[in-house]
Amino acid sequence: MTEQQNPSPEAMRIAGEYTYAVRWDERRLGYTVTCDEVGTWNKPCISNVEDLLEATRRAVARVVDDRVARGMEPPKPLHPGKGRELTERSLRAALERSLDGIPFERSVRSPFTDDERRILETRLRWDDAGMFDMSDDGNVRGFGGIASDGRAGRREPRRLVYSSYQALVAVLIDVAAKQRDLGDCGSAADTDRVRFAVDDEFLGIDMADERAMADATIDHLHRYVAYSRILYEDEPYVRPGLSGEERWRIITGKASMSIMRDLFAMQWRSHVKLMRALHHGWPWADPLMGLPVGWATRFGAELLGDMQRVVDLGLDGFAIEQVEERLGGLRIYFDAGGGDDGGRGSDDGFDVRRTGLAGLMTALLDAYENLSLVTCIDCGSWHDVRLTRGWIRPICRRCALFDAVGRHHPDPEREWDAMTPVADDVTAWTREHVRSLDDPRLSQAHIHRLLEDRGVEHFVA
Ligand SMILES: [Zn+2]
Repeated sequence: MTEQQNPSPEAMRIAGEYTYAVRWDERRLGYTVTCDEVGTWNKPCISNVEDLLEATRRAVARVVDDRVARGMEPPKPLHPGKGRELTERSLRAALERSLDGIPFERSVRSPFTDDERRILETRLRWDDAGMFDMSDDGNVRGFGGIASDGRAGRREPRRLVYSSYQALVAVLIDVAAKQRDLGDCGSAADTDRVRFAVDDEFLGIDMADERAMADATIDHLHRYVAYSRILYEDEPYVRPGLSGEERWRIITGKASMSIMRDLFAMQWRSHVKLMRALHHGWPWADPLMGLPVGWATRFGAELLGDMQRVVDLGLDGFAIEQVEERLGGLRIYFDAGGGDDGGRGSDDGFDVRRTGLAGLMTALLDAYENLSLVTCIDCGSWHDVRLTRGWIRPICRRCALFDAVGRHHPDPEREWDAMTPVADDVTAWTREHVRSLDDPRLSQAHIHRLLEDRGVEHFVA
């Protein structure tokens, strides 16, 4: 490897005044950078686009040094004082374009475009290579090549169609939550309607027909990608040029609500990202990794944010001791910190305050427990949820029927009919019984919106 000479600081300054064009090359799935003033180019590069831009600047600076050394004037900037801004604009446009994922030819072995596959692999850990049996004209005949993958034995088509359904439902829940965060309730309601339609379609899939299941799986995954793009748009995390380490830094530095929602929803596929995000941002919250997937999808990120709100009021040393599912509800046990739990020095104002905060935390967790009792523990839906008999769990009609078919239950519909409907008005009930929820310090808490939204979904869906 040859050592390249460092350009002079003066040449770097001049190169920094020039204008660079950053382009996304969809065919090669890489970026190119050219300098308007000095004809130079780079091979398409799929790794860090900002590094590529910096490398191009340095290459241009070397050209400048070379010209000066030969007694020539360096080129004048074409856009004096505006080079950086124009370059930045070009960079942003290239990043956006790379996210558009303009579909191009599908490979015969995959029903997805390369860009869709990239998203499925990175966000969903879904590798469809050889999973679908494609005919020469590109149609899917069913599942293929999955009889044994050596690790998990046979991956059942039925399991795959449910898995893709679960991922689609999760991303639809997350997108609607994001739209509500942004105050766009109309779009959120539209997204919810899409989800209810997906729910109904799921019930209509013939679980004995492999072709029908393959078609439904592919349809779920196409739509998963479309909504995943909406969830992640504006997130610096998805800039395709970032290295893995940079992505970690963004995730673990200050993960947005959208990212945390996605990490909670997808922890059953990859829990490492969630673990790292929690370690860095919410070190007291480790045991939340054990939240059942449906609850984690629906309110994991909100629960985390609301608990942090109370911790921030002065509960230093706070830690969750245990998270469990008890009689169909979420129970979280915690240590409020502060040594002997207020056993001594109770006349000390600090401990009184701490006791008050512990009470506030308990009220918050009681409200989430009520919410959990009406939230499908497997998918997060509030739409058509009942409590199973025996070992009590809240479960939606789709998940219940899927589960019953898997257990070869002779009459899944009848089993569903025998389940106990959940409470209709959990919102009013919670407001009445968890008085501290009115505390002004919780006025901005997510739990209020969640309770409202649940009411709407329960009665409208
Ligand atoms: Zn469900």
